[in-house]
Amino acid sequence: MTHRTDHPDFLFRLTLLGTGTIRSQDGRTCASILLESSETAVLIDCGTGSWLRLHEIKKDLNSIDHIFLTHFHPDHIADLVSILFSRYHASAPSPHPVKIYGAPGIAQLYKRLSEAFGMWMSDTMFQIKELNNPPLHISDFQVTWLPLHHAPESVGYRVEKLHKVITISGDSGYCPELIELSRGANIAILECSFPDDLPDEHHLTPSEAGQIAQQAGVKKLILSHFYPEVLRENILLKTSRYFSGEIQLAQDGDSILL
Ligand SMILES: [Zn+2]
Ligand SMILES: [Zn+2]
Repeated sequence: MTHRTDHPDFLFRLTLLGTGTIRSQDGRTCASILLESSETAVLIDCGTGSWLRLHEIKKDLNSIDHIFLTHFHPDHIADLVSILFSRYHASAPSPHPVKIYGAPGIAQLYKRLSEAFGMWMSDTMFQIKELNNPPLHISDFQVTWLPLHHAPESVGYRVEKLHKVITISGDSGYCPELIELSRGANIAILECSFPDDLPDEHHLTPSEAGQIAQQAGVKKLILSHFYPEVLRENILLKTSRYFSGEIQLAQDGDSILL
């Protein structure tokens, strides 16, 4: 709407703003991904640190047209207030309200935030959009979603344009819905929270992420959302036992073109 990338020779540019969790680690902030097309800029989650990461890459907050939330845990939404407050104080505020999407419950989330922050969370600067009937047409691409096994409101997103597909898990346990969501994806960004010997039904291990990517026929798997324990094991080795495609271990600031 208000933003155009400088390079028209790709469909999407992904910037991995935050690849860690709420357990503080050198060089890793909480979950957030910036997805840009030639027409628009979308933030997927905005966990603690994303406000700063956006500044570091010189991304004007007012050029973000849409924010998609995977679920409402603090490590995925805590900078929402900072980002909205910052837009409010911009020297040249955007004439377009940012649209904020989330599963049913997002209106209640907004109500609670507005009770806490009052006029600083005035909805004149943004619109709350409850996810209901997919697909959603966002500028020049479409977004669909599926509920995932993590929190009651958890969804994963699937972004498609000209037969190119990017999927983003947010947090998820091992579940058939995540395989379905990721089916045939050019790029699947899956969480990889815990090592194989510390499994958790609400998160993925390297081996589980590899199995999901392989069953879904993913071309490139990007692993993210690392707790410190999983980074102490050989993630590539564990994942590649199950997944034969390309694997990337995400770092804050990584940029990927599709
Ligand atoms: Zn979570
Ligand atoms: Zn999380």
